Amino acid sequence: MAYDPNNIFAKILRGEIPAKRVHETEHSLAFHDIRPLAPVHVLVIPKGAYVSMEDFSAKASAAEIADLFQAVGEVARKLGVVESGYRILANAGADARQEVPHLHIHVFGGRPLGPMLQRAE
Ligand code: AMP
Repeated sequence: MAYDPNNIFAKILRGEIPAKRVHETEHSLAFHDIRPLAPVHVLVIPKGAYVSMEDFSAKASAAEIADLFQAVGEVARKLGVVESGYRILANAGADARQEVPHLHIHVFGGRPLGPMLQRAE
């Protein structure tokens, strides 16, 4: 999938639309999901133009990759879910129902999160 510079997270990164920011580093930005599925639901994104995790891991620098993972850990600490537990998730492509074609790691927490996936019948 080609990167679409008009996706909603690219607009947030350019400051064209607002976001409730939680954490920002040189290469990453974290902000609250607009339709939270848990008391804590934050999205952590790289600032670079990457569609998905395999795109990011193939093209990003080691510094960008380290920065994103450090940002996820910092978000978990900042939002107080380390003790209670949290879940990270990154959807990619149609089967995962990725809506926004800019890599984002969901961080969920603040309540028991239930099973990881439902079994296919
Ligand atoms: P995904 O299905 O993994 O692509 O998730 C996309 C997520 O982006 C969803 O959880 C949306 O609620 C969230 N989202 C869409 N637009 C915005 C926005 N403007 N600000 C924050 N989160 C958003």
